[in-house]
Amino acid sequence: MTPEEFRKAGHELIDWIADYREQVPDLPVRAQVKPNEVRDALPKTAPDSPESFETVLSDLQNIVVPGVTQVQHPMHYGWFPSNASLSSVLGDIASSGLGTLGISWESCPALTEVEQVVCDWLRQLTGLSEAWHGSIHDTASTACVTAMILAREKASGLSKNHGGLPASSAPLIIYSTRQAHSSIAKAVQLAGFGNDNLRYIDEDPYTRAMKPEALAAAITEDRSAGNIPAGIVCSVGATGTTAMDPIDAIADIANAEDIWLHVDAAMAGSAMLLPECRHLWHGVEKADSVAWNPHKWMGTILDTALMYVRDVDHLERVMSTNPSYLRSTADGEVVQYRDWGIPLGRRFRALKLWFHLRLDGPDAIRERMRRDLENAQWFKQQIESMEGWEVLAPVDLQTVCIRHTPMDDDGQLLSGDALDKYTLSWVDIINSSGEAFMSPSVLDGRWMVRVSIGVEGTERSHLEKLIELLKHNTQ
Ligand code: PLP
Repeated sequence: MTPEEFRKAGHELIDWIADYREQVPDLPVRAQVKPNEVRDALPKTAPDSPESFETVLSDLQNIVVPGVTQVQHPMHYGWFPSNASLSSVLGDIASSGLGTLGISWESCPALTEVEQVVCDWLRQLTGLSEAWHGSIHDTASTACVTAMILAREKASGLSKNHGGLPASSAPLIIYSTRQAHSSIAKAVQLAGFGNDNLRYIDEDPYTRAMKPEALAAAITEDRSAGNIPAGIVCSVGATGTTAMDPIDAIADIANAEDIWLHVDAAMAGSAMLLPECRHLWHGVEKADSVAWNPHKWMGTILDTALMYVRDVDHLERVMSTNPSYLRSTADGEVVQYRDWGIPLGRRFRALKLWFHLRLDGPDAIRERMRRDLENAQWFKQQIESMEGWEVLAPVDLQTVCIRHTPMDDDGQLLSGDALDKYTLSWVDIINSSGEAFMSPSVLDGRWMVRVSIGVEGTERSHLEKLIELLKHNTQ
């Protein structure tokens, strides 16, 4: 494709994206396709000769769009918000258009240095001190794998030449809670600890926050059994109910015991743009690493997970490589992001954040998130005032966990498996209708429904509509 051909097709594509985004509120929220429908609509082999841009665009509209669950839809309340602000889409296009290669500072100095700048902007915007040094990962999952490897190497040998699992004389142990996202157990496994060495610490029965005294007891028990406590993963805004582990008390234990403390604030990190929410990660300055996703509530399009560490020397000691073919005359004077994580090649992801922050501005982002916090409190009050409904967990942010318990035919409150069946049935009816989407999830062994508010377009009127749907689709 020549630049001239690109110009013509590119204008059409931008028009198409703008039209599509305008139409999102009129589309079904959940994709209405059946399994394999998209695949079966596509040729089994790649075309031998070029096709016209019009044909490709038409297939995008007619085959791909029906297979997209509209997470930008104002009635989307599933999982966590995954806003993709159009300003950050422009940054994504610019990033691809530049066609950069990020394998060293020399291969694209601007890529490294814009990333340094936006990570520092976001450090300041979330109230973190200058002790933190940030970089962009694809996801919080990868950031957690990185953190677990850092924890492992700190506990097992402190040197990349002498560390690693073989250097450890005893099992290395990680501590978290059952509320932690599934990516934490995966990271623990991938970093080589083995899931038998992941300890789930007791939680408060209502807030689901880790109990620091239970953590301290587990560490003591492990030490007396000859095990080596290596890392703690705290959740700030755990996925199920947005539980907040008490970082301050946990960090005191981690520091006294010399154990790596990773803070997973994948969703809740966005809230730290609001000074009034920062008490939720009080003590974060005493942690060793923090990760959060602007690609969730804040709204920079995937994939922009931020990871901050305090001890860059340890990070580089563990992650650095120095092959002769990547040598440059700037070595020693510049940051080489390949030494800050797992991949070598990196995209110019920083442009997504740079465009988003510059074109939308933090004030407007904050205002939108404050609207969502207010909407969540309003929604919580509505649910609490409705017969048969309950809110099952604290609403610290924008996610409300709800359940409806009707009477059975004998006038008894539905319970046990029958209640589970009923919960899944009403939420599936609403989700299948395409009118709204929520995520069912298990809490204390029973199904409930998470209503996660925070799509850019979700206003109070959409929540009023959701309340009507809930009333209409339950007994
Ligand atoms: N941690 C928490 C608390 C999450 O909610 C999620 C995803 O929703 C993750 C980690 C994983 O995020 P990612 O998709 O960026 O790997």
